[in-house]
This record gives sequence, C-alpha cells and structure tokens, in this order.
Amino acid sequence: MRVARFHAPGDIRLETDPDPVASDDEVVIRVRACSTCGTDVKISRSGHPNMSAPQVMGHEIAGEITQVGARVDGWSVGDRVQVIAAIPDGTCRECRSGFPAVCRNQLSMGYQFAGGFAEHMIVPREVLAVDGLNRIPDTLSFAEASLAEPLACVLNGQQIAGVGDGDTVVVIGAGPIGCLHVRLARARGSERVILIDLNAERLAASAALVQPDLALAAGDGDIVEQVLEATGGDGADVVITAAASGRAQELGLQMLARRGRLSLFGGLPKDAAVIALDANLVHYRELSVLGVNGSSPAHNAEALRLIATGAVPVADLITHRLPLEQVLDAIELVARGEAIKVTIEP
Ligand SMILES: [Zn+2]
Repeated sequence: MRVARFHAPGDIRLETDPDPVASDDEVVIRVRACSTCGTDVKISRSGHPNMSAPQVMGHEIAGEITQVGARVDGWSVGDRVQVIAAIPDGTCRECRSGFPAVCRNQLSMGYQFAGGFAEHMIVPREVLAVDGLNRIPDTLSFAEASLAEPLACVLNGQQIAGVGDGDTVVVIGAGPIGCLHVRLARARGSERVILIDLNAERLAASAALVQPDLALAAGDGDIVEQVLEATGGDGADVVITAAASGRAQELGLQMLARRGRLSLFGGLPKDAAVIALDANLVHYRELSVLGVNGSSPAHNAEALRLIATGAVPVADLITHRLPLEQVLDAIELVARGEAIKVTIEP
C-alpha cells in the first residue's frame, strides 16, 4: 500500500509498505478520507516533540473496516468509522477525574501510531479501549466524518469557555477552525458572532460560507475599537483565538466585556509563547483566560452527532479533495491559507 511518511522537517516521502494485518486486539480500516490541518504544516516544517519519526502522518481519519481482530467485539467488516486522534490512557488522575483531553500519558494517531495518510491503517487497541472508534451515520460522507476530529476540539474549547445562549462571540482567525467555531457558536445559541482575520481574502471567502454577523479585517484600523463599537461599547462575552498569534491573544483580552472569557484555542510557536497580559484588566473586569487542549473520545462522538444532525454542517468547508500522491500539495495549500479544508482521499 501507499503511505505518506514523515522522516524529518521538509522530508515527507510517499512510500510503499506491506498491507497491515490486524492482531487479535486491533481493527484495520481502508482509509477513505484523512483531512489536513495546521498541525500537519507545523510537523512538515519543524517536526513535533511528541512524534516518533519516521512516521505515517494524518490524524483526521475516516474509513471502512476491512479486518477485525479475534478478540474485538462490536465491530464488523464493512462498518464505516471515524477514529479519534488524541488517545488518553483512561487510567491517570486526569482521566479518572473526567478530563481525558489533558491526559498526561496521551498518545496520538500519526505521532506514536501510524496515521491516516495511507491506504490502510491499524486502529490500535489503545483506541478501542477508550471508545475511540465512532460509527458514521449513513447520511454522512467519509470526508464530512473526518471533520469530527477538529470539531471535537472546537467543542471542547466552547464547553470550557461556556459559549451559550445570548453570547456575543468574537472568533479571531478565519481558517477551518475559525469557521467551525462560528458555526458551533451559532448552534449553541450565541446571539452575535464576529469573525476577524488579518488576511482580507481568506476572511471574505470564509465569511461567505459561514455568514458571521460581522466580518472585520484586522489590518484596517484599531480592531479593538471596532469590536467595542459593534457591541455598543460593551465588548464581547467570549473571544476565541483560532490563530497562532500572541498579538491576537493580547488584543482579544482587550475586546472582552466585563466578566468575559478569552479562549486560547490556537497554540503559539514555541519561541514566541510569552505574551503581554494586562493583569489589571483581568482583575478589575473579572475576566477569565482559558486554555484548551485537543479533545476527548466523548467530544469526538458528540461532534460526529452535531455534523450528522445538521447542527454544524461541514460539507461546504471541504474546498479541496486530493489523492494521497498529492499530500505535499495539500500541506502547501493549507500553509498558504488558500483552502478552507483539504481532504486526502487515499
Ligand atoms: Zn490519562
């Protein structure tokens, strides 16, 4: 079978591997869709500290079961499934407290286990042990189902930030994650959603799809002032930074209403992870600054339901579908911000 394997930064190779065989505790799937994301760009350029190279990349995975191990219950050949990316151990203190997204022993598909940029993939026993395999409803395509993983992370972030009824929500970053945030905020009852991006072209393309109440290009004048103006001087209840930008985080804090919540959804580059935070704003306005790290298996299951019920449609966000042979082109498309979602169909 063909696979796309990361060897070192700037060195991703298309290779031929033997077809995998399921052991007694595993399942093998024929990968039908594996979507790309910003993390794939980061890995291709600088690698990842948690990744054991060489490794088959790809972590937004959907496919069809082709082999079921002798000791695996509940799954059959032909079942259509979505696979979690972050795999908690289910036993550590965080997992036992109900917060597997911050499991201290977390493993990931495409990092420690061969990922979905491949024709076939083993679903490891670690995934099955934490209910990390989700049945795809008949009404959904594999490509749509592959977006359950990023939507699960978005869902985790909005649950932590308490996005809900009547909120004014600002999303900074109009990439695929920003688009999912806009749609989920609406599904959760937000009254007003404002989308901001530095790149006016990408902002226009994304806004045309997800229809925020207001789209603001961050390059045009004082963006904090514009958000305050648009909210009658109140500011936003929630600001979500879906961009790898410390400046976006700093500005996000300033555009919050009193008692507002800042969700630091996008991580920052390692060498630029320190920001200037006005602690008095946090203090006097009773602001909350909230982190978010990936998602749990339960978030994946819920995200797939949200897509299937139409609460969060995703089909129109998939702007490009490419074969495995063009995985490097796909990563470049994502890096240039020219696509919304690029899905590999191996
Ligand atoms: Zn754990």
